[in-house]
Amino acid sequence: MVIQSDFLVIGSGIAGLSFALQAAAHGTVAVVTKREIAESATRYAQGGIASVFSSEDSFDAHIDDTLVAGAGICHEDVVRMVVEEGPQTIRNLIEWGVKFTTTTKGDEYDLTREGGHSARRILHAEDITGREIERALVEAARQNPNIQVFEYHIAIDLITCAKIARQPVSNNCCKGAYVLDINGKQVRTFSAGATLLASGGAGKVYLYTCNPDVASGDGVAMAYRAGATVANMEFMQFHPTTLFHPNAKSFLISEAVRGEGAILRRRDGTAFMEKYHHLKDLAPRDIVARAIDNEMKTHGDDCVYLDITHEPSDFVRSRFPNIHQTCMEYGLDMTKDWLPVVPAAHYLCGGVAVNMDGQTDLPGLYAIGEVACTGLHGANRLASNSLLEAAVYAGRAARHATDTVSQQQANARDEIPEWDAGTATNSDEMVVVSQNWDEIRRFMWNYVGIVRTTKRLERAMRRIKLIQAEIEDYYWNFIITSDLVELRNIATISELIITCAQQRKESRGLHYTIDYLERDDTNGKQDTIIKKQFA
Ligand SMILES: Cc1cc2nc3c(=O)[nH]c(=O)nc-3n(C[C@H](O)[C@H](O)[C@H](O)COP(=O)(O)OP(=O)(O)OC[C@H]3O[C@@H](n4cnc5c(N)ncnc54)[C@H](O)[C@@H]3O)c2cc1C
Repeated sequence: MVIQSDFLVIGSGIAGLSFALQAAAHGTVAVVTKREIAESATRYAQGGIASVFSSEDSFDAHIDDTLVAGAGICHEDVVRMVVEEGPQTIRNLIEWGVKFTTTTKGDEYDLTREGGHSARRILHAEDITGREIERALVEAARQNPNIQVFEYHIAIDLITCAKIARQPVSNNCCKGAYVLDINGKQVRTFSAGATLLASGGAGKVYLYTCNPDVASGDGVAMAYRAGATVANMEFMQFHPTTLFHPNAKSFLISEAVRGEGAILRRRDGTAFMEKYHHLKDLAPRDIVARAIDNEMKTHGDDCVYLDITHEPSDFVRSRFPNIHQTCMEYGLDMTKDWLPVVPAAHYLCGGVAVNMDGQTDLPGLYAIGEVACTGLHGANRLASNSLLEAAVYAGRAARHATDTVSQQQANARDEIPEWDAGTATNSDEMVVVSQNWDEIRRFMWNYVGIVRTTKRLERAMRRIKLIQAEIEDYYWNFIITSDLVELRNIATISELIITCAQQRKESRGLHYTIDYLERDDTNGKQDTIIKKQFA
């Protein structure tokens, strides 16, 4: 049976749910999401959402800060639009029920400041901003009769006109998606007038990441396979310090710990940051991440250590109650123990290329949030601009999609063929999936991580091609599972990151290669664009 709606939304973080709430005023919305509805990167955002809310701040200042962080390749028109639409977009979130922290007087929002921002402009909900945003959006979506949510449904592939025609077509378009109902173990066909990718980032491509498990780059991989343009995949942002512990896979140790005097040390106790920057442990985020990566690789260590044991324990406990409490749960008392830390993949600046309405170059397909490359972040994201970008684009894409969902598309829905599992059988070799998954994440970390070289990228490309051949073989012979869907996607994302990194022959923003250490403003100052070539 084909499930039809006016809008199909893939993903239920801030991007997907904000879009759904606005599109639902104009038609029916099906939201598919691969775990329970709230599971998303949105839910883990701690810091907040950036926007100009103070008389001491200005749009121009927010724009300048974003451009500086983006290292010369932000799209200035996009930056201006996102910044200027920020305050109204945040008011919409507040109307949907998001409660941001107010000042002690209670009459204004409490604005904090983060690295790279020249003014106080981060709205937050204590230190659990994302959880509060997700809570409010989920509640609003649940109450909306035009929104139907399908949990534990993982989109496998987009349905394109070319797929329906079983051959390349000159006017390709998107008609919906094939989606695996994980619990029901069946592939369902979702057909829609407009399809929105809001499937988040791809941190799971790397061995260490602070992203949740859902961040396997599915949306970018699906869009690329369907023929949409993808851009700037080389720009993966790494957070310098996450707790290195087998059970604490996503736990960030805030930069504020270094702000209060913590020192990074090697296993033998050597403090190393003075070798890398005159600000030592307070150097910018990318420099600290690169320094840690270099120390780990040079000395063959699995992690480095963050030491704040020299500060009074009462101060540490009261300044960092959550971090202290969480570390204690893993048997580490930061007032006495050095904390083992590693950098971790944090945010994907590249993604599916879109215009200012979130439209991809595949008609009928939109992409917003972390899955998209809008031009806002350029080569490096300014802190707390990502939640803002997702929310602003949700409004723009919803307005555009509701205007353009055409009768013609609606009429064509019945032609869509159902998923054909062919002669696929159940696999008794799931070890192939876990082995390939581990191998990809490890070599992406070692060869395509924080510090790159031409040789490492070549090695990584050779490996990914081999693994992809094995996955393709496996993919069509065995009944599809969510693990297999994600494995195929992280392999595709790896290929895209390596391809973009190979094309950028300079160091800029988050892309740092020893073979081209300088920024090249003659040839480099442009987006890296890739598109699948069909035979
Ligand atoms: C630890 C952490 C802290 C952060 N702190 C901040 C911060 O303070 N400020 C800030 O601006 N940004 C922050 N970020 C980044 C920000 O949270 C994300 O960029 C943003 O939430 C992305 O929103 P999204 O809606 O695009 O994707 P997500 O919130 O990740 O949602 C993606 C959704 O898609 C679903 N999905 C994925 N693939 C499929 C598929 N194949 N089929 C069906 N569903 C699928 C997922 O299950 C999920 O529901 C942080 C990120 C992390 C990880």
